[in-house]
Amino acid sequence: MASFKMIINGKRIGAKESFVSLNPANEKPIAIFPKGTADDVKAAIGAAEEAYEKWSRVPPPARAQILLRAAQILRREKQSLGRLVTMEMGKVLAEGLGDVQEAIDIFEYMAGEGRRLFGHTTTSELPDKLAMTVRAPVGVMGLITPWNFPMAIPAWKLAPCIVCGNAAVFKPASDTPLCALRIVEILERAGLPPGVVNLVTGPGGSVGSEIVKNKGIRGISFTGSRDVGEFVVKNAGIKKVGLELGGKNGIIVMDDADLRLALDGVIWGAFGTTGQRCTAASRVIVHSGVKEKFERMLLESMAKLRLGDGLKKADVGPLINKAAAEKVHGYVEVGMEEGARLASGGHPAKVNGKGFFYQPTLFTDVATDMRIAQEEIFGPVLCLIEAASLDHAIDAMNSVTYGLSSSIYTKDIRSAMVAVRAIEAGLVYVNSSTIGSEVHLPFGGVKQTGNGAREGGIEGINEFSETKTVYIDYSGKLQKAQIDTG
Ligand code: NDP
Repeated sequence: MASFKMIINGKRIGAKESFVSLNPANEKPIAIFPKGTADDVKAAIGAAEEAYEKWSRVPPPARAQILLRAAQILRREKQSLGRLVTMEMGKVLAEGLGDVQEAIDIFEYMAGEGRRLFGHTTTSELPDKLAMTVRAPVGVMGLITPWNFPMAIPAWKLAPCIVCGNAAVFKPASDTPLCALRIVEILERAGLPPGVVNLVTGPGGSVGSEIVKNKGIRGISFTGSRDVGEFVVKNAGIKKVGLELGGKNGIIVMDDADLRLALDGVIWGAFGTTGQRCTAASRVIVHSGVKEKFERMLLESMAKLRLGDGLKKADVGPLINKAAAEKVHGYVEVGMEEGARLASGGHPAKVNGKGFFYQPTLFTDVATDMRIAQEEIFGPVLCLIEAASLDHAIDAMNSVTYGLSSSIYTKDIRSAMVAVRAIEAGLVYVNSSTIGSEVHLPFGGVKQTGNGAREGGIEGINEFSETKTVYIDYSGKLQKAQIDTG
């Protein structure tokens, strides 16, 4: 089995202990990685601080050239990288390729920022004085990523981080270190100088927490669970922190909806990526007028979903690991204890005797206050909640503490617009599933899904840069704001 190293200051660095990355479809080991330590993080911060001195002064269009070259390499190697995503993370190949495509898209989009990074100019209250803002780098940033988009999420962070002139210590999820290594190697091949991005692999509890706490890190960009998000907030001290946490996303299906269209959206939203997307639809809120019919349609459609290795003919791949399969099953037991009706699925599964698979599962008669309707399950479990009206449906949608993605299927423009206004979420889709973000639009959530940060789009630059306000007084005398003008 291939064995890999961390990358600190461009050098390959090992560690005393190691860990193994597995293929969740067949439980076979893929690669061995060093279990880094807090000392490795400190070395990486030192390397990043040194590299930052030069890198922050490289003109942004020149930084952007590296992103463009990286995008070209990713495009050339998309097939093999997509297969790697499927092997290491488990999502079906079409989605593995989509993961790589998302990385390509964000590298290309953020390369364009090299010639924008806009500030604004404005008036001054005093004569012969210019007032404007410019974008400045944050400094050394800590990037901590989950496993569910093992190329796309690192790319969503690395691209703006690099183009804004920061240096980084990057800690990927321990379930998908090889995808992370490949993306850093591609940046090196594209010409990124040593030390600008340093890859430290190893446990969240040691490597991740050192990144969070270390004062040499000026900013943190974290995507992952709410629990770890809270740890970050409590332990980061005074740092710029961007959090992208979980979701408990819902799709409303009104009685005037195109039910076939809604069905496709719900199946894709709930069972795509085996429900392991932060934007996965884990609740479907169905109008009473079509509830029975839609439930029948759902069950028929779910029966056709094929579980299997994503490199073969399959619609639903495995969960990421054994603990995830146990967690999902634990929630199914909770749902049954709470009195929800298990209409389909509800069991772990094996394919050819292996893998962390779980049957696509539907609960009906779900009440909004049940735990299965409130907590993030992160697996192929869909809760059907009945609503008597649009107002009830929106109340049900907003009854959770998360606020990431949401959707409504209706042919009525008024219902659609009321939902767009009233739903508490960072993303609202109309007649489309809860998943499918595009890189040139901001992405992020409200309530306990995050702390207001957005990634992607122009807003995505804010997390990775500081605003510097500049006044240039060419009057040749001391001018006092608020005093000379009062
Ligand atoms: P975790 O929060 O468990 O892990 C995320 C990352 O944090 C991993 O790299 C992990 O390392 C690291 N980590 C763990 N403990 C600590 C710590 N104490 N200090 C610093 N870092 C730590 O989440 P998952 O990987 O399980 O990902 C799934 C979660 O991510 C879901 O809740 C999902 O909704 C959310 N997510 C949110 C998205 C969004 O944009 N809103 C997008 C995608 C996912 P290690 O792997 O070594 O444990």
